[in-house]
Amino acid sequence: MSDCIFCKLANGEIPTDMVYEDDKIACFRDAAPQAPVHCLIVPKVHIQSLNELAGDEQFELAGHILFKIKEIAAQEGLENGYRVVVNTGADGGQTVPHLHFHLLGKRFMQWPPG
Ligand code: 5GP
Ligand code: ZN
Repeated sequence: MSDCIFCKLANGEIPTDMVYEDDKIACFRDAAPQAPVHCLIVPKVHIQSLNELAGDEQFELAGHILFKIKEIAAQEGLENGYRVVVNTGADGGQTVPHLHFHLLGKRFMQWPPG
């Protein structure tokens, strides 16, 4: 989508602090980190949220994202654990309408969140 900031970051139209990239997804650091490690994992194609995932290709994409998050977590030294968050829609607190997975680590995470 032409005016989507995460489309631009994921596809290299705007330079960013890229942590991992392949043909399907990108991982870059959050601009307002909530933990010492705070990355965002996003598909390169525009998908508005978890709710809009559909079809066999995106079924595979969802699995790809989760498996890569595990690898990125290891690469970031999160052997003590981490949190993955997918804010979805208004009540979920989603502010950027392009599907993204937050990867947070290197600090203890309270539960339940605020
Ligand atoms: P949401 O609330 O939608 O789940 O999270 C959006 C996240 O994107 C927030 O943590 C926010 O700090 C981050 N963010 C928003 N705009 C940008 C940006 O232009 N660059 C980066 N790296 N992160 C952004
Ligand atoms: Zn987008």
